[in-house]
Amino acid sequence: TDITTLLLSRIRDVADYPEPGVMFKDITPLLADPVAFTALTDAFAEVAERTGATKVVGLEARGFILGAPVAVRAGLGFVPVRKAGKLPGATLAQAYDLEYGSAEIEVHAEDLTADDRVLIVDDVLATGGTAEASIQLIHRAGAEVAGVAVLMELGFLEGRPRLEAALRGAPLEAL
Ligand code: IMP
Repeated sequence: TDITTLLLSRIRDVADYPEPGVMFKDITPLLADPVAFTALTDAFAEVAERTGATKVVGLEARGFILGAPVAVRAGLGFVPVRKAGKLPGATLAQAYDLEYGSAEIEVHAEDLTADDRVLIVDDVLATGGTAEASIQLIHRAGAEVAGVAVLMELGFLEGRPRLEAALRGAPLEAL
């Protein structure tokens, strides 16, 4: 089977979640299917290898589930980007705007070095705010961004043009 068809068949649309008017893309059926989960991991690992990544950064929380097996498969280290207040060590923090209010994410500063090329992994690119803040964090840590890889891009939210400047030519791959 074509991988896109397989992956799409394992993503469930949940209407009016987490609030009225939102169509939530639920990836838990994909995670529960070993064939689809393995195919997704292999596809992300191919992006990691092609872009010369040295580390995988996963964005809390689904980016942890998707990114960790990619790191293992590609033979790379894994670094979590977490919501503020969850990491115990010395962190770099980056705030970003939400539709209502703002959010902040953090990374352990010592987990990334100037030699690192980072592939950022997450499930969904929506407005691009989370990914943009993550790119900024990685650059502030002194590392390079090899690319951003997501399972799904919600094109109507225009995350891709938002990320263009921050990416500095690195690819945004939506499977
Ligand atoms: P953005 O910052 O607006 O691009 O939102 C992306 C973040 O929100 C990612 O970490 C996603 O996991 C999460 N997200 C947004 N929409 C969905 C969805 O429909 N399904 C699952 N996660 C979503």
